[in-house]
Amino acid sequence: MQAILDFETPTMVLGERTVILGDAAFVARPHVGMGITKAAGDALALARALSGGAANIASALRSFEAQRLPVGTAVVRRARNLGSYMGTQLGDARQRELAERHRQPEAVMAETAVTAGLEVLA
Ligand SMILES: Cc1cc2nc3c(=O)[nH]c(=O)nc-3n(C[C@H](O)[C@H](O)[C@H](O)COP(=O)(O)OP(=O)(O)OC[C@H]3O[C@@H](n4cnc5c(N)ncnc54)[C@H](O)[C@@H]3O)c2cc1C
Repeated sequence: MQAILDFETPTMVLGERTVILGDAAFVARPHVGMGITKAAGDALALARALSGGAANIASALRSFEAQRLPVGTAVVRRARNLGSYMGTQLGDARQRELAERHRQPEAVMAETAVTAGLEVLA
């Protein structure tokens, strides 16, 4: 048996020239099927943010973080929502609502391995 834990960083910029991305920043439960998309999106956003050159790296890293922190948070939240049907007995009204929703195959299919409807700013 292997424990699977969620992980969310409160910040992706760790220093003047240091960031974390991909699974180093956010680990969502595997059934969400978005770990590769998330890591690649982080890398792309970082490359784009830095494409302006070395003049203002701190500002580029802040821009990268502003784009990608909400996405990582949203992916982890969706993974929790998709898995919520396993813990209804202990949950509050919102968790029970999510559990009912994610017992439906249609909801699982619509929300697995896709960014559509991802509540990035919720
Ligand atoms: C069993 C399993 C199934 C999965 N299935 C899916 C799926 O179907 N779809 C999906 O989208 N995602 C899936 N994922 C998640 C996905 O694999 C990860 O989210 C993704 O690989 C994260 O990419 P990353 O580049 O951040 O990290 P990683 O792919 O983990 O890359 C990190 C790299 O850093 C290297 N490294 C570590 N420490 C050091 C060091 N000190 N020095 C140098 N190198 C180091 C590691 O060897 C590794 O090569 C799955 C994960 C697992 C474990």
